[in-house]
Parts: sequence; structure tokens; C-alpha cells
Amino acid sequence: MDHSHLAHNWADIRHRVAEACRAAGRDPSEVSILPVSKTFGADVVREAVALGLHRFGENKVQEIRDKSGPLADCGIDWVMIGHLQTNKAKDVARLASEVQSLDRPELAEALHRRLTLEGRSIDVLVQVKTSREDSKYGLPPDQLPAFLDSLRQYDTLRVRGLMTLAIHTDDPAEIRACFRQLRELRDAEMARGHDIPRLSMGMSGDFPLAIAEGSTEVRIGTAIFGRRPYPDSYYWPEGSGQGDISG
Ligand SMILES: *Cc1c(COP(=O)(O)O)cnc(C)c1O
Repeated sequence: MDHSHLAHNWADIRHRVAEACRAAGRDPSEVSILPVSKTFGADVVREAVALGLHRFGENKVQEIRDKSGPLADCGIDWVMIGHLQTNKAKDVARLASEVQSLDRPELAEALHRRLTLEGRSIDVLVQVKTSREDSKYGLPPDQLPAFLDSLRQYDTLRVRGLMTLAIHTDDPAEIRACFRQLRELRDAEMARGHDIPRLSMGMSGDFPLAIAEGSTEVRIGTAIFGRRPYPDSYYWPEGSGQGDISG
């Protein structure tokens, strides 16, 4: 496969993110880009590393496992952004530098137990469910205060912010409402003393709206790597209703 488009795409998305920042009256340095390499192989990720990228989002533990071996020389930080089964906590504790999909007490407990055994600690974001869609993962917003308080007991989990997936719809106002809710939750919890400045929100199709609502980190797959080689049913959890989110 020809991936010479990577350098072009990377320059292009950086430009578009900077444009969205300016349009929102924000400094482009406030928003970072997390490249999402899911479904693309180690060879493609290595090309991205050559462009200076060293942090990649994946939504399956298995893919982190498959790629981290061949890319061990690259010093990559793997960021888990997908739904995480509790029984996969062991591999995540070993291989990931960060988890953005922490969404329930049992997972926090499992990660802490495994991280303690590994003698490691990681950054985590709490994934909040801001859309009404039934099937999407994420902590219900009303449970966030108690959950954040409970995470204080785990010294292996450095809670740094919140993450969300917006509703899958063509209506920008509805999408934006999801992002706004996450920002307001963040602000409320900061006011309660939780040091959680980061907001991971926005993808290839909706990042300008997320940036307008205060995103500090957009997760970009398609706009960097191109269309994924597998149908989206391969990586979206079954029945998540997100089958065609990237177009
Ligand atoms: C795939 C994925 C992305 C990136 O999606 P694109 O539309 O390809 O940019 C972002 N966040 C999560 C959780 C994902 O699974």
C-alpha cells in the first residue's frame, strides 16, 4: 500500500486544527492531536513515527499488543481509547501509557491491581457518556463526582481529565451539546478540587465543534491515516450504532 499521503495528511490536519482554534479565538498550542492508528499495521505506524509522532491511540488491546512488539525501538506511547474489558487490564497495565476510556469502578480497581504488580502508574481520563444513545460506553454524567472521588484511593491512576464521544448525528447543535456538557462537567469538578484540565473530544468529522467547546485534545484517525482497511464493524463494539461514523 502507498502511504506517501501520510506526511500530507499530517500537515493538513495540523493546519485545519489551527484554523479551528483561530476561529474559536483560541491559541493552537492549547489543542494537541492524538493520531488514532487503529486497524493500520506496524509498518504504517512506523511511517508516522518518521514524521515525528510518538503517541498513538488504539481502541483494542490486541492491536497494542500486536504493534508494540515490532515497534519496540520507536519509544511509542500507546493510548487506550476504546472500550476496555476488565480481563484485559493486565495487558494495558503492561503496555499502555494512558487510558482514556476509564468508565467504571471495576475497571479502575482492575487497572490499579495490575499496575501495582507492574510497579507502574499511568495517566487516565474518565470517559463520560454525553450522548443519549443507549449503546455507547461511558460513565453516566451524574455518577462523575462520586467516581472521581473514589479514584483518589488509587495512587497508580493519575486522573488528568475527561473524554467523550459525541452523538452520531448530522445536527451540529446536538454534537456541540455533547462537547459543551463535557466541558461543564470538567469545570464543575475542577471547582470541587479535582485537577482534571484535559478534555479529549473531537474526531475527524467533528473536531472544529469540539475545539469551539474547549477541547484540549482531538483524536484523529481517518484524516491522518485515510479510510480504515476494515469495515467499521471490525472495531466498533457490536450494536454501538457507530458503524459509519468516519464515513
Ligand atoms: C476511531 C476513533 C477515533 C478516530 O475516529 P476518526 O473519525 O477516524 O478520526 C476517535 N476516538 C475513538 C474512541 C475512536 O475509536
